Amino acid sequence: MKLSRQFTVFGSAIFCVVVFSLYLMLDHLQLDHTKNPGNGERLQNGQLLLLQDKIDRLERLLAENNEIIANIRDSVINLRESVKDGRGMPDSGNFSQGGSELLPSVPLVLPIDKGDCQFSARLYSKVADGVQMLDIYDLLSFDNPDGGVWKQGYDITYDESEWDNEPLQVFVVPHSHNDPGWIKTFDDYYRDQTQHILNNMVVKLHEDSRRKFIWSEISYFSKWWDNIDEQKRDAVRSLVSRGQLEIATGGWVMPDEASTHYFALIDQLLEGHQWLERNLGVKPKTGWAVDPFGHSSTQAYLLKQAGFSNMLIQRVHYSVKKHFSIQKTLEFFWRQNWDQDQSTDILCHMMPFYSYDVPHTCGPDPKICCQFDFKRLPGGRISCPWRVPPQPITDSNIQQRAVMLLDQYRKKSKLFRTKVVLAPLGDDFRYTEALEWDQQFHNYQRLFDYMNSHPELHVKAQFGTISDYFEAMRKAAGVDPSGASAVAPSLPILSGDFFTYADRDDHYWSGFFTSRPFYKRLDRMLESYLRAAEILYSLALAHIQKAGDKPSDFPAVENYKLLTAARRNLGLFQHHDAITGTGKDWVVVDYGTRLFHSILNVKRVIVDSAHWLVLGNKKAYNHDPSNPFLQMDDVQPAQDSLPRKTVLKVGAQPRPVVVHNPTDQIRVSAVTVYVNTPRVRVLTAQGQSVSAQISAVWEGTTQASTEAYQLTFFAQVPSLGLAVYQLVEGAELRTSEAKYVFLKQGGGLSVSGAEHFSVSIPQEPVSVSIENPHLQLWISPSTGLLERLKLKEDGSEHQVKVEFMWYGTTSSKDKSGAYLFLPDGEATRYSSSQPPVIRVTKGPVYSEVTTTFTHVTHTVRLYNIKGTDGQAVEIFNTVDIRGEINHEIAMRITSDLNSQDRFFTDLNGFQVQPRRTLARLPLQANFYPISTMMYLQDSSRRLTLLTAQSLGAASLKSGQMEVILDRRLNQDDNRGLGQGVLDNKLTANSFRLLLEKRLPAVENEKISPVSYPSLLSHTSEMYLNHPLIPMAMSLGSATMPLVPFSPLTSSVPCDIHIVNLRTIQSKEEGGGPSDQAALILHRKGFDCGFSNMNTGLLCTTTRGKVNLRKLFAELTVRGMTPVSLTLMHTPQSGQIQQEISLKPMEISTYRLQLS
Ligand SMILES: [Zn+2]
Repeated sequence: MKLSRQFTVFGSAIFCVVVFSLYLMLDHLQLDHTKNPGNGERLQNGQLLLLQDKIDRLERLLAENNEIIANIRDSVINLRESVKDGRGMPDSGNFSQGGSELLPSVPLVLPIDKGDCQFSARLYSKVADGVQMLDIYDLLSFDNPDGGVWKQGYDITYDESEWDNEPLQVFVVPHSHNDPGWIKTFDDYYRDQTQHILNNMVVKLHEDSRRKFIWSEISYFSKWWDNIDEQKRDAVRSLVSRGQLEIATGGWVMPDEASTHYFALIDQLLEGHQWLERNLGVKPKTGWAVDPFGHSSTQAYLLKQAGFSNMLIQRVHYSVKKHFSIQKTLEFFWRQNWDQDQSTDILCHMMPFYSYDVPHTCGPDPKICCQFDFKRLPGGRISCPWRVPPQPITDSNIQQRAVMLLDQYRKKSKLFRTKVVLAPLGDDFRYTEALEWDQQFHNYQRLFDYMNSHPELHVKAQFGTISDYFEAMRKAAGVDPSGASAVAPSLPILSGDFFTYADRDDHYWSGFFTSRPFYKRLDRMLESYLRAAEILYSLALAHIQKAGDKPSDFPAVENYKLLTAARRNLGLFQHHDAITGTGKDWVVVDYGTRLFHSILNVKRVIVDSAHWLVLGNKKAYNHDPSNPFLQMDDVQPAQDSLPRKTVLKVGAQPRPVVVHNPTDQIRVSAVTVYVNTPRVRVLTAQGQSVSAQISAVWEGTTQASTEAYQLTFFAQVPSLGLAVYQLVEGAELRTSEAKYVFLKQGGGLSVSGAEHFSVSIPQEPVSVSIENPHLQLWISPSTGLLERLKLKEDGSEHQVKVEFMWYGTTSSKDKSGAYLFLPDGEATRYSSSQPPVIRVTKGPVYSEVTTTFTHVTHTVRLYNIKGTDGQAVEIFNTVDIRGEINHEIAMRITSDLNSQDRFFTDLNGFQVQPRRTLARLPLQANFYPISTMMYLQDSSRRLTLLTAQSLGAASLKSGQMEVILDRRLNQDDNRGLGQGVLDNKLTANSFRLLLEKRLPAVENEKISPVSYPSLLSHTSEMYLNHPLIPMAMSLGSATMPLVPFSPLTSSVPCDIHIVNLRTIQSKEEGGGPSDQAALILHRKGFDCGFSNMNTGLLCTTTRGKVNLRKLFAELTVRGMTPVSLTLMHTPQSGQIQQEISLKPMEISTYRLQLS
C-alpha cells in the first residue's frame, strides 16, 4: 500500500520533470532566439505551437501540484546545469582515455560575458587630492638626513596664537600592547602579565570615571574572561557601557599584514567579533594596529567590510612618514586601488613617529616625551635612555611640566589638519601592576586639570579611547560622523599599501617575509583543511537537519569544539610575531604544536562529515571514534616534520577512496595515494576502470621502496563535493608503470629497488625534455634545471631558466636576522659540491624531473591533462640548509620577458599590487611579501609564479623573479627578539609557473595602479592551495554502499569564490553549533586579456549574480540575511529573496539557515 503510493508520487514527479524540462527547453530556445536570431528560425512553427500547448498543460498542472513542482524544480535545474556544464557524465571513465583525449565535454573556449571584462579594462582615473603610493615612491629621494630631536623628521615650529580661536583638543589613549606569543608563549605571557593587566584594569578604571583604556587581542581577553567570576564580568560590562573601556579592532590577534592570507585574516576577525557579541555585546568600530611590520590595504578593506569607520596604523617607512607629515596627509581616507565609487573608504590615522611607546607618541622629542612616561620614574625597573628621568607632578613643578608637555602636543598637532591631537600612552605589556596605573593616571590627571583650568593655554586635555579621538577629529574635520560614504574635502584619499617597511637607515623588514618558512607552509595547510572541514561540517549538519531524524551519534558538538579550537589556533598564528617567524624558538614550537594538533583535529571533522555525506544508507551510520570509517591518506608525525603518506593496503576486495574537492568549481585533478602493490586497478563508483600511473616511492635519491608505490589518477569531483573511487589488486591494462631515466655527470649511478619499473642510465649525453598537451619543457642535462618552455598552443618557445641562489649577510655591524634582510650584495649562484642526480619520470598521468642537490631537492612536473592542471608547471622544492652559517637560499627564474622594473605581487591572496624595483633603494628594499602569487609581463606575455606558502620575493632585473626559500641567520637583529634564526627544518614549498599569452594591452597600462590575474591563474592558484583530499575507507569498516556527493546545483560562477561556509556558534551554553552558517563569498577581479582556450573550466561568469536559493542541491535555504563581514551588523534591507549581486573584488557575508 505504502509502496504503491510512493510509486504514484514518483511517477507523477517524473511526469512533471518531463513536462517541466520541455518548458525549460522552450525557455532556453527562446533565450537563444533573442540572443541569436538565426538559431530560432530553425524552429518550425508547428513545434512552437506544440510546445505552447504543453506549457498550457503544465500551467494547469502547476496550479494543481504547486508544492511538488517547487521541490522538483530544483532537481530539474540541477539536471539542466549538469548537462550544460558537463557534470552529466557520472564518472571519470569517459575522459581518461590518455593524454590529449581528456575532458572531451569541456568547451574549448571559456565563454566570458563582455560585461565581466569591463571592470579590469576600466581606465584608472586619479582623484583630486588623491595620494597613490606608487607615485609617492617615485617622488621620495629616500635620503636620511638628521632631523634634530625628531631624528627622521624635521624641526616643527608654531605660532602661540594658533589655538586662540579653536583650542587644541588632546586625547591621551592608555593602551597595553599584548603580543599573543613572542619572547614568551601565549600562556606564559597570560600567566605572568596579561591577567594582571586586565585584573588591575577593572579596579583602576572604576576608581575614576574619567579614566579610559583600550584593548585589542580577544585571544587574551577571552582566556581571562573564562577565569573571572560573574561579578567581575558585570564590572567589565559596565566599564564598556560607560565608554571607559573600548575594544579596538577586536580580532583574535593584531595580525601580521604581510604573510597572512585573507581567509585567515577574516577568520580571526570573525572569531574575535563573534566572541565579543556573545559575551560583551560589543561591536568594535575602530582598528588599532600599532605593531604589524608594514600595512596592507587588504586589512583596510576587511575592516571596512566589518562595518568599521576608522583605523590606525603605525609601522610605515620613515621617509613616507616624513613626507606625509610635511603634506599633512597622515590622516586620509584609505581607498582600495580598484574602487571607483568610494565604497571602500575608511578613515585612517598614521602615527607620525618611530614607535608606539611613550617617548615617540606625545610629540616629536623623545627625550621630552620619555619624561611623561611615569612608569619610568626614578627607582622603577625602567628608565629613560635619554638620561632625563620623569618627575612626579607636584604643585611646584606642574606649571613647567604642563607647558613642556603641551609644547610637544602642539608640535605634534602641526602634522595634522585638525586641532585634535592623539597621544597614545602605553607600550608592550604595560599596566601590569596597580602602581603603574596610579603613576600614569594620577600624574596625567594633574596635568590635564592644570591645562584645562588655564584658559590662556587654549587646550582641553583628557583621557580618551581611540574612538573618542576619531569622533572629535571627524567633527573638527567636518567629516560626517558615521563616515558611511561622504568624504570631507578636508582630508585626502589614499590608495596603495605600506610595504616594505623600514624603521631606520637601510633596515628594511623584508627578512620576516620568509623567516621560518616551514611554519608559513604549515599555516597554509591548516587554512585549506580548516576551510574544507568548515564547509563539509556545515553541509553535513544541514543534511542531517533536513533528514529530520538526527543521528544521535553524529559528533556535532564534539566536532564543533574541534573546529572552534582550530579557528583559534589558526587565529593565534596570524599574530605579527607568529606567522612572521619572529618569536623565540620555544614559542615557535608552541605555535607549531597548535597548528599540528589543529590539522589532526580538522582532518577528523573532514573524515566524520564525509562519512555521513557519502553514506548511501544514512540509517547505517555509526560513529566509532576509535575506528573512523574513513582515514586521511597522510600523517604528519610531529609539529616540525613533513607529512608522510600512509600506505594503503589494497587487496582483492575493492577498497573505496573518497575524494573531496575543496574548490568552487567541478574539477579534474590528479590524486596520488601510496599503495602496497604495483598491481592495482582504479575503478569508479560504478566499477568502470580509470587510467592510472604507478610510480616508485623513492626513499633515497636512487633507492626505491619495495613496500610502497605511488598510485596517481585523475579524479573528477564536483564543487565542494565528494567522489568515490575504488582500488582493487590485480593486473590492469589502464594502470601503467612510470619509466625512469637517471643522469649524473661523471656517472657512478646505481639504482636499487625499482624492479617493477623500466630504469635506464644512459652513458651518452642525452637531452632532457618532458611534455603534456599544453607544454614542453627542456631541462639542462648538466644542472637538472629548467631552461626553456614551449607553448604548444602556437609552438612558441620561451626562455624560462630556473636557478638557485645564495645570499649572505653584510659584514657591517647590523646583520640579517628574523626581521631584517641585510645582504652582502647581490646573490651568488648556487652550485652543489657534487654534480646533481637527475631523475626523469615519464608516465600517462604525469611526467617530472627531480634534481637532487646538497641543499635542495627540486622537481618540475607536468600533468598529462588538458585544462587547468595541464597549463602550469608544478614545482616542488625540499630545502635543507641546516648546516649553513648566515645563508639564505633563493629560487630565481630568469625569462626573456621585457618586464623592465615593473612586477606584481599579491596582497594577502586577495588583490594584486603593482610594484616597481627602484635602483636608488638598497636591494633588500625591493623585496615584497607574496602570499599566493607574483608576476611579470610585457606586451605579449605574462609569467606568473603561484605559491602555496607566503615568502619574500623580488624582481631585481627585467624578466627576472626570485623568492627566498629559507634563511639561516646566526645573530639577533636588534628588534627585541634576542636571537638569530637557527631552528631551520627540512622545509617543503610548492609553486606553479604559468606562462600566458596576452591579448594586446590597454593603452595606459604603465600608470595603472591595478592589475588582475587571469581566470586561469586564479583557478590554478586555487588548485595549488587546495589540493583534492583523498580519504580511504578504513580496513576495519563494514562494507556499505557509498554514493558521490554534489552539494551544489552547479559549479558557482568562475569568478566567485566561497571563502567559507562557517557554522555559527549557538548562543546556548556549551559552545555547540547553531542552525545557522555564515556564507562568505568573494567575487574575484580578473583580467580578460588572455586566451580563454583550454582552461578546462566548467563554469562561466554571471556579472556577479548568484542565486543563493538555488545554490545548494537538496537543501532548502530557510533564512538568508546579508550581514557585515563578521556578522556584527545587519543592514536595514533585511532578508533577500533570491538573487544576490556582488561587485568585482567584493567580499560579502550572508547569514544562512539551511535544511
Ligand atoms: Zn607586537
